[in-house]
Amino acid sequence: IVIRDASEQGLVEKTARRVIDRLSQPYEIDHHTLYVGASVGSAMAPRDGKTVEELMRNADLALYRSKDEGGGSHCNYEPSLHASAEERRQLEFALRRALERQELSLNYQPVVDANSEQVVSFEALVRWNSNDHGFVSPAKFIPLAEDTRLIVPIGEWVLEQACREAVQWPANVKVNVNVSAEQLVEPDFAKMVVRALAVTGLEPARLELEVTESIFLRDADVARGALEQCMALGCSIALDDFGTGYSSLGYLRKLRFNTIKVDRSFVQGASGNDPESLAIIRAVVAMAQSLDLTTTAEGVETEEQAAMIRAMGCNKIQGYYFGRPMAAADARAIFARAERLAS
Ligand code: C2E
Ligand code: CA
Ligand code: CA
Repeated sequence: IVIRDASEQGLVEKTARRVIDRLSQPYEIDHHTLYVGASVGSAMAPRDGKTVEELMRNADLALYRSKDEGGGSHCNYEPSLHASAEERRQLEFALRRALERQELSLNYQPVVDANSEQVVSFEALVRWNSNDHGFVSPAKFIPLAEDTRLIVPIGEWVLEQACREAVQWPANVKVNVNVSAEQLVEPDFAKMVVRALAVTGLEPARLELEVTESIFLRDADVARGALEQCMALGCSIALDDFGTGYSSLGYLRKLRFNTIKVDRSFVQGASGNDPESLAIIRAVVAMAQSLDLTTTAEGVETEEQAAMIRAMGCNKIQGYYFGRPMAAADARAIFARAERLAS
């Protein structure tokens, strides 16, 4: 939309609001009510650009910002948007080379049985030490890898690497691998899992894939089909970060999950005596028991929290109290030590 004369105070904002409101009205199609949202980004000449290309690009940057913030709103272009887009472009450029430059590695965090406190599994967590950017947090580069679909080759590498490591552990210890929604809609996801198991020789029953509820948001049938194929191989599936997303209980009926991971925020809340967190953990444990699922509490940092979680009936515990994410060699050393103690 081109506004020739935008000298009137607030005119751009008013126009943007009208567009959003009008497009956000429900549509009736084939007896279904559809809701379509809208986001608007704007740039003002000559302040934000002197050519059409420059103006369009800057309005686009503002549009991305509006979408990132959840949509349904209007954002003006600001020069700082340019800086963050440039940073993102450079990070993406480096991430594209991370695999071949061998900048990625895996850490392993123990998951213990709540009662015996024995290690039952390790969760593989990817780390990126970039030549150009130093250590980049997964909270930053995983979303970028998802947006750019780089998560597909990265996830494949993670899976194979994690399986390769896990074959060296005692046979009763599993490995948990995070899988993004973007990976599940790849047509060959299950084949990729078969390949990783085959080349490493890991028993399928020792692999647990962790997914979040976001897999049900789009292409739900494709994602579910891929996971069902993995379950048919003998792998198990965990529902990660439970309670933070949509938490529709219907999801638990769509797929026979083996484990529900209770998000760290509830463990922290419960240990501060927040009544809602306590109620949610109790409800999840009760529900898991009746559906024959196991529960893992995430983010347990103290002895008191471990005791509380155990008393509430969670089956497994993960968190700094029992071990931080560690290098592969340190994870292996835990078993070597246990063996020495036993002999
Ligand atoms: P997540 O799957 O929920 O992983 C658990 C995160 O909580 C890890 O952060 C871990 O270091 C942290 N954590 C564990 N125990 C504690 C604790 O007691 N206290 C606190 N404060 N934090 C704890 P990390 O390693 O930074 O990973 C962040 C997220 O990145 C993961 O969250 C996961 O969603 C994603 N991610 C990591 N590796 C992969 C991967 O290989 N593939 C995909 N798709 N996602 C991954
Ligand atoms: Ca996880
Ligand atoms: Ca989690």
